[in-house]
Amino acid sequence: MDASLSPDLVPSFQRGPLIVWGPEPEGLPHAERVRTYDLQHQSTTIRFDWARRAVVGTTTLQIAGLPGASPLSSVALDAGDMTIKRVTSGTRTVKHDYDGRSLVVHLASPLRANVQTSITVVYDAAHRTKGAYFKPRHIVWTQGETEDTRYWVPTYDFPNDKTTWEFYLWSAKGERALSNGRLAGSRTVGDSIEWHWVLDKPASTYLMTAVVGNYTVLQDRPWHNVPIGYWTYPDSVAAAWRGFGKTPAAVEVFSRKTGVPYPWAKYDQIVIPEFQFGGMENVTATSQNDTEILLPPWGPPEESADGLMSHELGHQWYGDLLTTRRWGDVWLNEGFATFMEQIFREEDKGVDEGAFDRFDSHEQSIRADRRARRPIVYDKWVNEPFELFFSGHIYPKGATVLQMLRHQLGDAAFWKAMNHYTTENAYGNVITADLRKAFEESTGRDFKTFFDQWLYGAGFPVFQVSSRYDPATRRLVISAAEVQPRDSLTGFFDVDSDVEVRTDSGVVRFVVPVRSGNGEATTELKAPPRSIRWDKGDWILDITDFPRSTAMMQYQLVHDDDVLGRIEAVDVLRQRPADRLALDALVRSTRNDRFWAVRARAVIAIGIWASDSTRATIPQMKAVRDALVRATFDPDARVREEAAKALGGLPISGPAALDVVVRLRNAARLDRSMVVRGAALASDILLEKDAALPLARQLMVVETWKNVIRVPAIEALRAIDTPEARKLVQQYAPASQ
Ligand SMILES: [Zn+2]
Repeated sequence: MDASLSPDLVPSFQRGPLIVWGPEPEGLPHAERVRTYDLQHQSTTIRFDWARRAVVGTTTLQIAGLPGASPLSSVALDAGDMTIKRVTSGTRTVKHDYDGRSLVVHLASPLRANVQTSITVVYDAAHRTKGAYFKPRHIVWTQGETEDTRYWVPTYDFPNDKTTWEFYLWSAKGERALSNGRLAGSRTVGDSIEWHWVLDKPASTYLMTAVVGNYTVLQDRPWHNVPIGYWTYPDSVAAAWRGFGKTPAAVEVFSRKTGVPYPWAKYDQIVIPEFQFGGMENVTATSQNDTEILLPPWGPPEESADGLMSHELGHQWYGDLLTTRRWGDVWLNEGFATFMEQIFREEDKGVDEGAFDRFDSHEQSIRADRRARRPIVYDKWVNEPFELFFSGHIYPKGATVLQMLRHQLGDAAFWKAMNHYTTENAYGNVITADLRKAFEESTGRDFKTFFDQWLYGAGFPVFQVSSRYDPATRRLVISAAEVQPRDSLTGFFDVDSDVEVRTDSGVVRFVVPVRSGNGEATTELKAPPRSIRWDKGDWILDITDFPRSTAMMQYQLVHDDDVLGRIEAVDVLRQRPADRLALDALVRSTRNDRFWAVRARAVIAIGIWASDSTRATIPQMKAVRDALVRATFDPDARVREEAAKALGGLPISGPAALDVVVRLRNAARLDRSMVVRGAALASDILLEKDAALPLARQLMVVETWKNVIRVPAIEALRAIDTPEARKLVQQYAPASQ
């Protein structure tokens, strides 16, 4: 677009496809495992032998024949990479076969339906590759999901069975051991302590946990008699409070929303070193990555562990109380926990933060299908079920689908249906059909189409939306057409889109129903439209191409009360770089918008715009530079960080550059947030080159949480690539050179 064009000109639809689906992920289908017996209780005694890095254990399983099944002469337990010392049933030693993966126990007499027997296995696991991990600080922790409990306890290791259990864990004196359920007792045995933990409500065995080490236990205020504890390192008490401190509030929110009070005897969270994930929702005893939880004093509120804390807490309902029956439906664990995380953010920080969280999930879901399109319910993998987890279809898209249901039904009906689903399936296993059934029973509606389109089908709609306003009749027509590529995996999506029109005589809202790929609605206005939103609130997962004039987008950026409308305006206006009005609007919103993410996005937009000096006039360049410098004083560190980054990309020299450099140096030395300091230092390096190295040497020495100064500084040093810069990089990242 040319700068001379009218701000009222409506551009045409974008050329080329708005989405190209990525290839379906590879793998073979994996059905649910067929159970042959029922594990009803398991009691395990474990000593972790540091000298040999071995798990030394004895476990007793109470099992029963399944109702209606014929008698079993043997049962197969999952046991990985162990030495099996002895297997007994009752008081008798029984024969067993073990191939390193499956322990087949030959029973003395056949196990009949509904009859119980017990099996005791004495084992030693010294050459594991998984299951239990011996880590710095003399800490041992375990990780069961997806199918790794078998590497530290022989058991039934698939999620479609639930059992109660207890652990007798041995620790050195002065150390503690955490496991699931309530602490039933502890006793001193020689120079060790034995800790007895009992889980008396059933759960799936991938949720078994043991953590042993030198921990300080902080007790927060209980939630209605449910003790809430934080296990941290003795030197990290204040940091643990910063990370965990909102747990009681989140327990309250989730209990209230679901109508199902926190369903377990207690809730502990424990920080563990060198964990490969963010957290693991081991029932009543969540493991959390220490780096993610133990926040530095300068971190909050921008750096926060609330998302991780509330996600794992959400699992105590969805994942632990209700557990997917098979990995192909694991969105019932992870999509739900991600959704609960979003619910807590909205309750805790308000609707703007909640909306932005949903928006972030939309962006991740869209990226997921660009990489590799697949349905949410999907059971194909190559090597292990974890391949299903982190593609973006399970966490963000799963949460997004629940948010769509929530918006369709309204909060009251939605949470009533959630309550029905949760109480019907408590302490049980679920598949996606159970969710549909519960929602249909609770609401009286038919959800077949919704589940087919969003859960068993793949992709999302891409809309071309247009509006026609006739000043004579004052009628506004909104038309929408779905243009996503369709095939056997992706069809049309039936949606009801909320349209909002702002005029000088008030706001008008109506719904455009889209069926079989098309939708249209007409409304009468008292005054011409100043701005028009498709899908107000951004509830539908979609890509929309809705060409509107710069004047309309500018109006939307200033007047939309929905933060996602203002973000949409930033994203549209940034694509009109030659349009002076667009730039002015963006510059103003870096300063004026009341929500940090809009300011940050506008900062990024004008930074990109100005990084190409060929299109900027001198006054425009000055306006951008001034706005970015001002934004380095923003109250929110995330805006300051983006401003500091953007300044490093400006094509500037002379006195103007000197002003910027002085500001960056000050920010690098003095900003409250180390993240901002790191970004400012990196930009200073990019602008000043070798002249920035003394400051870089001075700041890179400082040890910070997550290396937030060194990492961006090293990146900038690599970019300028002078001999001196290379030397400095070598000092901090010798291996990677
Ligand atoms: Zn999770």
